[in-house]
Amino acid sequence: MSVPQNTIAIVYDYDQTLSPNYMQDEVLFPAFGIDPPKFWARCQALVREDGYDSELAYLKALLDCLDLDRPTNARLAELGAGLKFYPGLPEMFDEMRTGLLRPDHEMLGIKVEHYIISSGLKALIDGSRIAPYIKAVFGCEFAEDKSGHIVFPKRVISHTQKTQFLFRINKGLLDYTQDVNDHMPPEMRPVPFDHMIYVGDGPTDVPCFTVVRQYGGHAIAVYNPGDKSRTSFRKCYQLVGTADRVRHIAPADYRAGSHLRLLLDQMVGEIADRIVARRQRDVEETTVRAPKH
Ligand SMILES: [Mg+2]
Repeated sequence: MSVPQNTIAIVYDYDQTLSPNYMQDEVLFPAFGIDPPKFWARCQALVREDGYDSELAYLKALLDCLDLDRPTNARLAELGAGLKFYPGLPEMFDEMRTGLLRPDHEMLGIKVEHYIISSGLKALIDGSRIAPYIKAVFGCEFAEDKSGHIVFPKRVISHTQKTQFLFRINKGLLDYTQDVNDHMPPEMRPVPFDHMIYVGDGPTDVPCFTVVRQYGGHAIAVYNPGDKSRTSFRKCYQLVGTADRVRHIAPADYRAGSHLRLLLDQMVGEIADRIVARRQRDVEETTVRAPKH
């Protein structure tokens, strides 16, 4: 038995990959009057002095700051509507739906799906303009108390844990009630790693870059071309140069015809062609030739 394996997955980090900003700075802090430098200093102190994981530090600092003014998850999703993206988003998702695959790809049911794995807040991304195009968003989540206000972290995704979600996509186990560690033979996995493209921006994406490439997928590191300090570019440059984590870097410009879009379009096209070729091979191998007279 096997599954069709005709899905191509593009998996994105969020902060600095799809957006030039950090989501907390952009929509959360202004709404609640939080001072960003003070907030991030508090997070760093929790990590340095109390040994917190950095993701738990920001979730704790947020709950501490909001204290009596804790919002609901629905309110966070409303704030997510204000998130801004790099050029070309969300239009790219529509353009890929109609103009990317050829008719012979589509006849085989080949499709492109988009996923986000972020250490940021899932509720904000869920309320954003790109959410309708994303098959699944994995991010940190808060539980709510009886009155509906956020009260405690329900799910924390640190940068090292992000790889677990690549395996969820690989195995089609998008629901948290399903155990990602369950054994599944390769032919039963709906999205093989060589059908995956991971797009990230820096060191926190290294575990995902490594896993995807190790299993035959593609990795692209993007940088903010508007960052005059070149910090963003240097992060990418180091990933290619000394560390050999990725083979491709591109400016985070998702408009049709940009370097990044050329890379994505080419990679998707080649994966789709590979699926077609494999299908033809399977048909030839299983066809019993009619006897010749
Ligand atoms: Mg990032």
